[in-house]
Amino acid sequence: MIHYQLRCAKDHGFDGWFKDSASFEKQAKRGLIECPECGGTDVERALMAPALAKRDAAPMPVAAPAPPAGPPAASTEKVAAGRLPAQMLAALQRMRAEVEKNCDYVGSEFADEARKIHRGEVEARGIYGETTDEQAESLADEGISVAKIPWVPRADG
Ligand SMILES: [Zn+2]
Repeated sequence: MIHYQLRCAKDHGFDGWFKDSASFEKQAKRGLIECPECGGTDVERALMAPALAKRDAAPMPVAAPAPPAGPPAASTEKVAAGRLPAQMLAALQRMRAEVEKNCDYVGSEFADEARKIHRGEVEARGIYGETTDEQAESLADEGISVAKIPWVPRADG
């Protein structure tokens, strides 16, 4: 799931969620993405990718770096569940449940643990935990792939 900052021809900014970048392109081309303010369908991505966007310094939960031959990277970002369509929320809740089921929670040790996995110092496995944007960026610089996923409240509350 990818979160894009979108912008219509009248320069209204809004958020969009897509399965992947190809699905965004397809929907945009068909005029299926409407600006919530003016209904315009001439929509394009805002320049900054949210996954790389600078935020305030507050630590942000991230999950599951990909070990070299392991499961795909996943990471988490807290979102306001109320703003998501029910179907989307359900999908994100399933994703959270999968991460919690299959990955070890390592809390603030996330960056260190991701490095150890990357170097083969510990058993390769999926992990999730919290990190800062700075830590996530330096992991990326070291070639360790970490993704952020929206971290919604659990289905069971
Ligand atoms: Zn608009």
